[in-house]
Amino acid sequence: MPRPIQAHINLSALESNLHVARRATSARLMSIIKADGYGHGVLRVVEALSASDGFALLDIQDAMRLREAGIRQPILMLEGFFGAEDLALISEYNLTCVIHSAWQLALLDAYPKSGKLDIWLKVNSGMNRLGFAPNEVAQVMEQLHRHRAVREITLMTHFANADEVRGVAGPLALFNDIAAPYRMARSLANSAALLRYPETHGDWVRPGIMLYGASPFAETSAQQLGLQPAMTLRSRIIAVQELRAGDEIGYGALFRAEHSMRIGIVACGYADGYPRHAPNGTPILVDGQRAQTLGRVSMDMLYADLSKLPQAGVGSAVTLWGDGLPIEEVARAAGTVSYELMCALTDRVPVVV
Ligand SMILES: *Cc1c(COP(=O)(O)O)cnc(C)c1O
Repeated sequence: MPRPIQAHINLSALESNLHVARRATSARLMSIIKADGYGHGVLRVVEALSASDGFALLDIQDAMRLREAGIRQPILMLEGFFGAEDLALISEYNLTCVIHSAWQLALLDAYPKSGKLDIWLKVNSGMNRLGFAPNEVAQVMEQLHRHRAVREITLMTHFANADEVRGVAGPLALFNDIAAPYRMARSLANSAALLRYPETHGDWVRPGIMLYGASPFAETSAQQLGLQPAMTLRSRIIAVQELRAGDEIGYGALFRAEHSMRIGIVACGYADGYPRHAPNGTPILVDGQRAQTLGRVSMDMLYADLSKLPQAGVGSAVTLWGDGLPIEEVARAAGTVSYELMCALTDRVPVVV
């Protein structure tokens, strides 16, 4: 009998979330599948999201696997290429490539002009992560136009605050100014902008987190947005301890019982991807009922408070996040975001589809 932890991936939830995106826009959908499809398994995700108009990721090996699996849609390399040798593969596998920095332009110039490359030119509209400064764009554009291998150019930017109160107004105006002279496709919107700012949709939207069924917003739940969780992390209680007043639990004795109580030991720890910094009181489901974690998460186990669940015991089903327990709630309690929890799922956790 294997250890009871499992990650359940709901393929029809992925499909349904893609439809939510589809209904929200008339732009083409570039599904973001970086970080192994936000931890859901990139090939699995691509199959469920096959109605996407394109896919975007980081690793050229992954992109090649997708082509070999028969994916025909555009595949966008979000950080472009990392060395000159990547360019031949990008051309051979007909991948689309972000260009965000001058060093990439220099490599591109040295590239044989016979290849064919579709480029997404990234503009820095204020996030100051990747992209050319607004005043560099005209010159970069000229250089790309001169390059014989460059086929199609799309203009893109990425928002730092689409999910925050700050919103997108400033960066959007800046980007629109930069893009105005060019008759080219445009792409700006992540999930938050797709859901909240139709004026950012342009020709391609780039949803990520919403496809996996989590809300990009702090104040709006996934359910309110019509999204279904694609990943549910489940395990079971493998032991029960009866505590007396004054007893402590776990490394560092982070929790001390004030009265006698029952706690369950759950087969899930940070080596499975559960956040070690989740404090006392992080929500958890035991037998479908809400409970709380206690004590410090250890490598392979964590503690659940069973005081209010007298019927729960060894073998009780536990949901760490997903169906019935929004991942955002767990993330918030642990001081992080759903994205990080999804990506942190480790290889030792068996995946069930
Ligand atoms: C990750 C990423 C996205 C998707 O963001 P979500 O918040 O997950 O929707 C879109 N565009 C770029 C450039 C990204 O890196």
